[in-house]
Amino acid sequence: MKIKLGLLYGGKSAEHEVSLLTARAVSQAINFDKYEVYPIFITKVGEWIKGNPLMGPVDTVESLKISKETIRPNSITSFLPIDGDDASHLDVIFPLLHGPNGEDGTVQGLLEVMNLPYVGNGVLASAAGMDKVVMKQLFNEAGLAQVPYVHFIRNEWKNSQTALLQKMEGNLKWPLFVKPANLGSSVGITKVANREELLTAVEVAFKYDRKIIVEQGIVARELEMSVLGNDEPRCSIAGEVLPTKDFYDYEAKYEDGTTNYAIPAEVSPELLEKMKDAAIRAFKVLDCSGLVRADFFVTDDEEVIINEVNTLPGFTPISMYPKLWMESGLAYSDLIEELIALAMERFEEKQ
Ligand code: ATP
Ligand code: MG
Ligand code: MG
Ligand code: MG
Repeated sequence: MKIKLGLLYGGKSAEHEVSLLTARAVSQAINFDKYEVYPIFITKVGEWIKGNPLMGPVDTVESLKISKETIRPNSITSFLPIDGDDASHLDVIFPLLHGPNGEDGTVQGLLEVMNLPYVGNGVLASAAGMDKVVMKQLFNEAGLAQVPYVHFIRNEWKNSQTALLQKMEGNLKWPLFVKPANLGSSVGITKVANREELLTAVEVAFKYDRKIIVEQGIVARELEMSVLGNDEPRCSIAGEVLPTKDFYDYEAKYEDGTTNYAIPAEVSPELLEKMKDAAIRAFKVLDCSGLVRADFFVTDDEEVIINEVNTLPGFTPISMYPKLWMESGLAYSDLIEELIALAMERFEEKQ
């Protein structure tokens, strides 16, 4: 019997369109002899729409924007195995979502409650990996080197702005990076060189989150590594992001084509080992499963400083995460197979 695989894509976040491209790419790589593939489309306003099984690879993203059988997020019974409708019983879900409501543990929690196996990180790792402050506190616990930072919530900013400014100016060297704690794709992030810019950047970041992190800027190479597995994760080769502008902002990631990539990155065997060690420690301290992309800063004297991990990294065939695996000898379709197998394994372990 074929495995019933639900592809969960779209979503309310800024990364809706990217998610559609990912779903199309996955449909083109999946083995239809082995899987019956059900599209589950989350619209931009958050409606969940489950479609009929795909007949084969999808050519256009338009055809993924299905509009039948509207299911509200709070009426989850249509996915439950108990509702008697055989076609609605899915064996495993592949969430292809990024950012809030996809990468942050909320969807993962829903799938847990529905008792459905799903690809990737669980509730805890997803939530901890989405919050840059919690993530950094755990990284610190794991002994990972990081840039100095200060964090605060809106209420603290309102009541103790002067003290917080003193703390930042006393502990951090300019330039600083101001970030909403819970986001991705560089949305809401500003690099600032003085107090005036800092004040504006804080207001910008508060538009996206009630919690902000301000980091000391570092001049360093940006290297990334893919991690795959559950209890015994393994690492890919390293990749390098080479922004040609000030930093790797949203436009540089998705729009203006100014970013270059080196895959594999030029790294010494010693540096590669240091990165692998740090990536695995990060994976373990967040209790990750399935996949993670670890993002590092590497200084001239080859100090490895962790910036963050992404628990649902970009997953189109041209994204860094799968690319690093391709260059490591694992094809896109085999990577998908392995992630689904890891999801099943993790689910069975819990039963
Ligand atoms: P994504 O999830 O898409 O990787 P993000 O929104 O989580 O991104 P970060 O990775 O934290 O954001 O930062 C985005 C980019 O900003 C980095 O890739 C880097 O170019 C720059 N950057 C962030 N923090 C620093 C820092 N402390 N020093 C120097 N550059 C930084
Ligand atoms: Mg991130
Ligand atoms: Mg991200
Ligand atoms: Mg990043």
